[in-house]
Amino acid sequence: MSDTLPFQAEVQQLLELVVHSLYSDREIFLRELVSNASDALDRARFSSLQRNDLRPAEGEPGITVTLDKDKGTITVSDNGIGLTREQAIEHLGTIARSGTKAFAKTLKERGASAEGLIGQFGVGFYASFMVAHRVEVISLSAEPDAEAVHWASEGTGTFSIEPGVRATRGTDVILHMRSDAVEFLEDDRIREIVSKHSDFLQYGVYLNDERINQSTALWSRNPQEVKNEEYTEFYKHIAGDYQDPLAWTHFRSEAPLEFSAVLFFPPKRPFDLDQPDVKRGLRLYQRRVLVLEHAEAFLPRYLRFARGVVDAPEVALNVSRELLQNTPVINAIRKQIVKKLLRRLKELGREEPATYQTFWENFGATLKEGIAEDSDNKDALTPLLRFRTTATTVEEPWRDLSAIKAGMKEGQDAIWYITGQDLDRMKASPQLERFKKKGLEVILLSDHVDEWVVMNLTEFDGTPLKSVARGDLDEATEDDPIAEEARKQAEPFATWLGGLLSGSVASVRPSKRLTDSPAVLVDSDWGVSANLERILRAARQEGPKAQRILEVNPEHPLVQKLVALHRDGKGESAEPLALLLLDYAKIAEGQVDDAAGFSKRLSALMEKAGQGL
Ligand code: ADP
Repeated sequence: MSDTLPFQAEVQQLLELVVHSLYSDREIFLRELVSNASDALDRARFSSLQRNDLRPAEGEPGITVTLDKDKGTITVSDNGIGLTREQAIEHLGTIARSGTKAFAKTLKERGASAEGLIGQFGVGFYASFMVAHRVEVISLSAEPDAEAVHWASEGTGTFSIEPGVRATRGTDVILHMRSDAVEFLEDDRIREIVSKHSDFLQYGVYLNDERINQSTALWSRNPQEVKNEEYTEFYKHIAGDYQDPLAWTHFRSEAPLEFSAVLFFPPKRPFDLDQPDVKRGLRLYQRRVLVLEHAEAFLPRYLRFARGVVDAPEVALNVSRELLQNTPVINAIRKQIVKKLLRRLKELGREEPATYQTFWENFGATLKEGIAEDSDNKDALTPLLRFRTTATTVEEPWRDLSAIKAGMKEGQDAIWYITGQDLDRMKASPQLERFKKKGLEVILLSDHVDEWVVMNLTEFDGTPLKSVARGDLDEATEDDPIAEEARKQAEPFATWLGGLLSGSVASVRPSKRLTDSPAVLVDSDWGVSANLERILRAARQEGPKAQRILEVNPEHPLVQKLVALHRDGKGESAEPLALLLLDYAKIAEGQVDDAAGFSKRLSALMEKAGQGL
């Protein structure tokens, strides 16, 4: 039965672009097809580990490229898992890969002006239409009861599907080349492309019965003998990425445990990195046979952005072969992997600061989770941290803790930080007034994870890390007898105001941290910070409430006036204005949670002010 079916709308849009784009790197169509063939061989091997009813392959697993100049066709054949009719409709008519999905989404957002984006995202199988005016796929699935299928399309809206003829399992993809793409019908050109993009494949790629790619799996080779291009191409293959990786590390271990690994840092944060249901992990091979596509057990969560392969023959798989057991062997390998990755990052930070900055801007917030999660490696993680501070500039956008420590002022005995929602608001916070005046550098922390980072990172190299918003501040203040006297004077007023505000704040006290503002809210010495409370609330988690302290500035003229009124027994007339100090402090933080009460207090004050007019 022959059917003509429409492509999914996104595919149509994509094809429109692919067919008409003057994409300079058209040769990658071959990489895509060879890569798909290699995946199909992997999948066949993988499935045959789990079941024994599959249609067997003829000959060794491999990929053959056949050129027919007379017909103007290139055929890429494999004896892998094949496609059933349903799979052909599903996989070759819709968009499956996440990279292509993201591409289609970007297309939609940007309109059709997406030239150049193809290179960024890659389009897999559909890249065929960059060079072919007609594509046929003839496939026989390894499923025992499947029949051969013939898929064909001109890349214009629809594809046809009908029974095909193929005696053995596997897939032929036949490209009828466009007249502007006949260059690819030359042997030498095919050789060149395969050795450039697909050299590392563990399966043979054959042209005229001759193997045209290297034979050894990349990870089992000597790292000294692998070229950079080979690593980048390998990365693109396993990660389905179109950009070069930022960096990689390749290592092998013989004793006491035999395993080898090639691990990469991707160039960009994937949009779904934080989605818990997306499968991550490394590809697990055993003696060069793929056994698990997403082996999560080899990476802690805070390194989930790393991509790569691990070949570990001694790892035991459970019966279904889908899950790894948490055995001592796996733990030992994971330990090694973490160590190597962190060491590579350290090296990168030292030797290629610009690359490290890119890494940090993409993955820093994820790596930081390790400070809270992996206390064993805290010492290795700490030097990798980078911060925005009150001293960072366009030229030096990030600083590490050694630089911050080296920049400490004489007599300063803590590294100070502030946590909050965004940098601008933190920089403008009254909590920083005294620090600014004294020229002390303050770290600005705005990632959610930072609250957990500072809970676990209480000191660096013998110097404590302290919040500017927490506790009574001694260190940042100089011994100023006048200020000391003013604070003493303000004590009774503060105690009185504390009584008035007892439902809203834990206490009120004269401040040591303000220079300009009349009042500020700070966190108490212990318990959760206001920022953490906000984060937990946003995540709909029940958490303890922050105990906040209102500090009033004893040197501020308004506060001095209130202190005097209170001292003279005129507390009642000071009350409307005194209550507004809390509102002021809240507004300075960007929150007004009691707008009705606030406008009532403000109008009471305005009334009073009006009487004085
Ligand atoms: P991706 O390979 O990233 O999933 P493609 O668009 O290149 O995206 O391919 C879509 C799907 O088509 C593949 O995931 C696979 O299921 C199927 N496919 C493509 N080529 C082959 C092949 N040679 N053998 C079996 N299945 C294939």
